[in-house]
Amino acid sequence: MQFIADLHTHTVSSGHAYSTFLENARAAADKGLLMIAITDHGPAMPGGPHPYHFGNQRVVPDYLFGVRVLKGIEANVIDYKGTLDLGEKQLARLDVVLAGLHNVCSPVDSVEKNTMAMLEVMKNPWVDIIVHPGNPEFPVDAEKIVRAAVEYDIALEINNSSLTVSRQGSRPYCKKFAELAKAYGAKIILGTDSHFASYIGDFTQAHALLNETGIKQEQVLNSSIDRILMHLNRRKNRLHPVAF
Ligand SMILES: [Zn+2]
Ligand SMILES: [Zn+2]
Repeated sequence: MQFIADLHTHTVSSGHAYSTFLENARAAADKGLLMIAITDHGPAMPGGPHPYHFGNQRVVPDYLFGVRVLKGIEANVIDYKGTLDLGEKQLARLDVVLAGLHNVCSPVDSVEKNTMAMLEVMKNPWVDIIVHPGNPEFPVDAEKIVRAAVEYDIALEINNSSLTVSRQGSRPYCKKFAELAKAYGAKIILGTDSHFASYIGDFTQAHALLNETGIKQEQVLNSSIDRILMHLNRRKNRLHPVAF
């Protein structure tokens, strides 16, 4: 399986990442990717950007070094009602909205409460992708999440960083999500969650997990530009349709 896009990357604006838009795009071009999404952490992350950062990303060209650059966010789920840390006006301007639970921004509680938070955020009409759902810090009812992802047409991420440098102990949970995604036909993306440009486009561990579970290429959004565009444009409420 070939991956032509990395839809989860961070820049210096996240506060604890160390490369710029230009460096990320350059790394994507060097790896032969056709598309990259810049998805800095939402404003609730300590050291994260001000909301203006997201609104003004439109000044960044759509193509850098021949790579299509999507402007996005990795928004924080900040309560059990699935509230995100960026308002609808700014979310509407973005090309891609990732959402996830983070221990410094999201309340950590029982399986029931964590699952509720994740289910609620999937109903948010601006959310495209749930990131690292297999994070062991937030145990959830994986079957409920995967069924809801199919119902609400949300993609679930297999996060390569969770299998390498972050969120220790994620692998069995990520594998469970991959198996359930296969069983229910949920959409999957692989993300590197790069906090430094050299990680961009390296999906080695996430790819190995996909191979173990036998997920079909048709389920994996970032193996095809058309699949990505179809997913991002499935919602008609975007201010601008996403084009390649
Ligand atoms: Zn994250
Ligand atoms: Zn991230």
